[in-house]
Amino acid sequence: MENYTDILKKYWGYDSFRPLQREIIESAGLRRDTLALMPTGGGKSLTFQVPAMAKSGLCVVVTPLIALMNDQVENLKKREIPAVAIHSGMHNDQILIALDNAVYGAYKFMYVSPERLGTEMFQKKIVQTEVCLIAVDEAHCISQWGYDFRPAYLKIAEIRKLIPEAPVLALTATATPEVVDDIQNKLLFKEKNVFRKSFARPNLTYVVRVSENKEEQLVKILTNVPGTSVVYVRNRLKSKEIAEMLNEKGIRAEHFHAGLAPELKNAVQKRWTNSETRVIVATNAFGMGIDKPDVRTVVHIDLPDSLEAYFQEAGRAGRDEQRAYAVLLYNNSDAAKLKKRISDTFPEKSYILKVYDALGNYFEIGVGSGLDHTFAFDLADFCKSYGFSHLQAYNALKILQQAGYIDLTDEQDSASSVIFNVNKDELYNFKQTERQEKLIHVLLRSYTGLFTNPAYISEETIAARLNLKRQEVYETLTELSKEKIITYIPRRQTPFLTYTLERHDIKHILLGKNVYEDRLARYQKRVESVLEYAQEDKICRLKLLLAYLGQKDLAPCGKCDVCIKNNEKALAVSEFDVIKNEIEKLLTAEPQNIQNIIQNIGKNDRKVMECVRFLIDIGRIELDKMTMKLKLKKKQ
Ligand code: ADP
Ligand code: MG
Repeated sequence: MENYTDILKKYWGYDSFRPLQREIIESAGLRRDTLALMPTGGGKSLTFQVPAMAKSGLCVVVTPLIALMNDQVENLKKREIPAVAIHSGMHNDQILIALDNAVYGAYKFMYVSPERLGTEMFQKKIVQTEVCLIAVDEAHCISQWGYDFRPAYLKIAEIRKLIPEAPVLALTATATPEVVDDIQNKLLFKEKNVFRKSFARPNLTYVVRVSENKEEQLVKILTNVPGTSVVYVRNRLKSKEIAEMLNEKGIRAEHFHAGLAPELKNAVQKRWTNSETRVIVATNAFGMGIDKPDVRTVVHIDLPDSLEAYFQEAGRAGRDEQRAYAVLLYNNSDAAKLKKRISDTFPEKSYILKVYDALGNYFEIGVGSGLDHTFAFDLADFCKSYGFSHLQAYNALKILQQAGYIDLTDEQDSASSVIFNVNKDELYNFKQTERQEKLIHVLLRSYTGLFTNPAYISEETIAARLNLKRQEVYETLTELSKEKIITYIPRRQTPFLTYTLERHDIKHILLGKNVYEDRLARYQKRVESVLEYAQEDKICRLKLLLAYLGQKDLAPCGKCDVCIKNNEKALAVSEFDVIKNEIEKLLTAEPQNIQNIIQNIGKNDRKVMECVRFLIDIGRIELDKMTMKLKLKKKQ
């Protein structure tokens, strides 16, 4: 058996594994296909990183989140582990260099966005590479039954066939039972093999508040529960308005959504992470990869699309294992809003075809061509050019994605990158302006390996070092790029769109039952589950949520609004009176301290306490401050 603990200590400096990490690592280490279900923050990354370190060869990591990809690569590099990222935000030359280096064994980890897996270049190179493990992060994205299906994930099966020796380790924090099965099928597991860490988090309390005035209710919650908070809303404008409203009430808040400039996004996120801002009001674009431990409340003002998504978002509260609350605000108009979302999410088929046709014209792709072409895609500009509604066009594209015609990545921000196209001698011979010379100098000093590998750079940092403006740095980099000295890809904010099939005549576009009707039905079902959760008043919230995620037979949590109401009711009718009478009888004899009362009555402590509190509140008994005993108040 490999010594995984030594590896953990040597590279990460940790002394021991968290629950289930070792079991998953050992399973993957034995080359068994493995599916690991662990809540966010449970420590999934180490479960593929550690076994890969124990073997020779490359670990291919498939992940849809490009922003996090770069973070992970940087993290590994810091630990002297060679790693690289490959995604659609990169130039083909850059990708080719990285893949060639991989063949020669230059890296231990290669992070790949799923749409890259399908390309000929990737497939040609990967068969020449020694691969020890394929790790699939956010593995639920492979399932059509899941809430976040990404067709590009199906390419993983193609890769498996090309390198059949490499086992798969699939990881996710949300999967319903049918998705758990589907993941293993779609990833061609040799045999079923699932490790599941309970999703229950004892410190997190779920609450639904029915409220006609949600903003007022929000203020009340934030006043009652101090500490950091995330407030989720459905649209960008609302995120701004609610943040403003909170500031007016003296609660420091900022808003966040995908449309903010990358610099602003980073700044807002940082102020919140440092607790300079108490509340972040955000769309669901916020949260992936955020690891702030001391979030006390996550409040949803609008209903989410699915309980899987709700569970993910709510789960960002209380990572420090201290008491935290997930609150959903609900009222009668929500049901109608949710129904409207269904028709927005599934526009008519004829509309979808219109969007597809317009897209080809927009990118000037002829019918029969365009295969594997990737474009930076500005949805707003596209909609403006053709008069589409933003929301419906977006969802039409998503359906075309499901059908396999295009791939639309949601990434908003890929950092700027630079690689040199010339060697040192050629660089020396190039006649440079003074500013170019200084900039090249700083580049070479600040980033290593620029002659062989592209590096993500920060124009701001370079500007600060050169005492220039960001714009001047940008211009100089562009000059050098035009001279073909470097390849410079400036930071982009737009998502990328790839033609995964050549442009079809719309007569031949197939939107089959499996991409439209079936998915519509499942979407409706998911939405209904959300409504059921919001309207439920008998089953414990936690029980209901976890049953939905496949964890049955859980005891009621005793803390959610449903449990508390049920307890009160139960207590109110019979038991309460019994306990009340017993306390009164006991105190008629003589004053008692609270421990004595509890012991004498011998019932549930909390219920006795509740009853004592009630009797104090109604003025039936009182505390004698001298003796610290409770006594009956004399009847007036
Ligand atoms: P997940 O992907 O499951 O959401 P991560 O892999 O990002 O979680 O891990 C979350 C955090 O927990 C990271 O900061 C990681 O370094 C830390 N962590 C993971 N395993 C251990 C461990 N065995 N000991 C200490 N810290 C750990
Ligand atoms: Mg993770």
